[in-house]
Amino acid sequence: MPNIKIKKLSKRYPSGSKQVNALNDINLEIADCKYHTLLGPSGCGKTTLLRTIAGLVEATEGQITFNNKNVSSLPVQDRDVGFVFQQFAIFPHLNVWDNTAYGPKIKGWNSKTIEEEVAKNLKLVGLYHRRDAMPNELSGGMKQRLGLARALAARPKLLLLDEPLSALDAKIGEFLRYELKKIVEDNKITAIHVTHNQE
Ligand code: ADP
Ligand code: MG
Repeated sequence: MPNIKIKKLSKRYPSGSKQVNALNDINLEIADCKYHTLLGPSGCGKTTLLRTIAGLVEATEGQITFNNKNVSSLPVQDRDVGFVFQQFAIFPHLNVWDNTAYGPKIKGWNSKTIEEEVAKNLKLVGLYHRRDAMPNELSGGMKQRLGLARALAARPKLLLLDEPLSALDAKIGEFLRYELKKIVEDNKITAIHVTHNQE
């Protein structure tokens, strides 16, 4: 996993009696173990593209392959994809630690490995000292950092980042921008980061 090929991909959403063309004949190859960035203005289809790769949205036309294997019928949970959403998607009833431990637990790792991985990623995003806090006690930027820690802790092969830094203060955003690239390169992850931010 995963040399990703996207062929003639289109997505049209129904919108009243009309249709919205969110993706129109996209052809793209995503090389393994590289940090890819897609830049485009709001509304150009970035989120739709990531959600289609993850399996959260069904394409209208076209094909996505991971290592030459068509994944169209592969459910989300079998794609080994980590997703950091544009809008925070964390479990409101779990504290910071348990949110981050969720993926590792699903993967069935032993408790020592889970503990190490969770601690490492919470330290990375600067939330280790808030590990007992509930999500509603966190600021927007902290929730976004928690989303990042949660996605990274499961050590996905493919990391999809949907404007992950846009809710953060400039300073921490810049720090994490470099850290993300380093994590991806050090851990042989493939990342696709979409943003409208030209920086
Ligand atoms: P971006 O992430 O680049 O801002 P999106 O993928 O969110 O773009 O949206 C692309 C286009 O598809 C926009 O015109 C948006 O309004 C439309 N769209 C996105 N999601 C839906 C949906 N669930 N139903 C209808 N239209 C949608
Ligand atoms: Mg978007």
